[in-house]
Amino acid sequence: MERINFFRLYAKERFGRRIQKIPVALPFTCPNIDGTKGRGGCIYCYRGSRPEHLSPRQSLREQIEEGIRRARERYGRRTLFFVYFQSYTNTYGELEELKELYDTATEYEEVVGLDVGTRPDCATDEVLEMLSSYRDRGYEVWIEFGLQSANFETLKRINRAHGISDLVDAVLRAKRHALKVCVHTIVGLPGEDRVDFLETAKLLTALNVEGVKIHPVYVMRNTVLARLYEEGRFKTLGLREYVSCAADMLELLPEDTVVHRLTAEAKRPALLSPEYCTYERKLEVIRAIEEELERRGSRQGIKSVRGVGLVEGA
Ligand code: SF4
Repeated sequence: MERINFFRLYAKERFGRRIQKIPVALPFTCPNIDGTKGRGGCIYCYRGSRPEHLSPRQSLREQIEEGIRRARERYGRRTLFFVYFQSYTNTYGELEELKELYDTATEYEEVVGLDVGTRPDCATDEVLEMLSSYRDRGYEVWIEFGLQSANFETLKRINRAHGISDLVDAVLRAKRHALKVCVHTIVGLPGEDRVDFLETAKLLTALNVEGVKIHPVYVMRNTVLARLYEEGRFKTLGLREYVSCAADMLELLPEDTVVHRLTAEAKRPALLSPEYCTYERKLEVIRAIEEELERRGSRQGIKSVRGVGLVEGA
């Protein structure tokens, strides 16, 4: 019995075969870095969350073709794809330029969906409408908003330069455009405890979002968080503690919320802590969360109380 509604399970049921996300990195920046909203970015930001193997110097077509080739070698020729615009703020640009990128991604017949990561304060109605036009053409379109915490004091502490209201507003408008919404959360941010993580899960339940990403806070070198960590003013969560908190959050989220991510991966020596946030230990962390739910005789959604929901359906 599957205790967690992972994206791979959802996608297999929806498309009848394996769906692989192809992460791409483009030369975007972020309004929290370029001075529009703030400078320096979120205190944990390391290269806008760009995966190690990607370079924005490589063209979008090259990145997609390389992603398709590799995934098909590994998972077989029937695999289909979502292009995942991952690093920095992927809706922060001129509408025409954005459209050109999304058009390029949908040129490939193996691509059946788009997944666009952004900030909740960077989702204008024009961008949402444009993304929705791909949905009208038969693509599945997810928009991913970084929230990280439902505690406004935390958002200030980590220099997010947006509020909870921005997230609520962005989610409601994205839903009006019939986009699927995924929200990123981080467990273990400075000053937070279990009550905060659970409140974040409850907010996402109330907003009836279709997907979540949950991962532990991890410290990368040359960030503000690294300085706090090195000065002994901040500690990351141990694996057992993270596993227990993630299981608590999953119990609160509805059983049909799609779980896109449950841990984070980075490489040493840029990764300072925790030691389990590596590519090599990814499956171990996920397995530990599944085992924790099993040990409790529990599963995702077991404690979820979906209220009226701010927006019905999806
Ligand atoms: S919103 Fe994302 S890209 Fe921008 S500063 Fe924060 S973590 Fe970095």
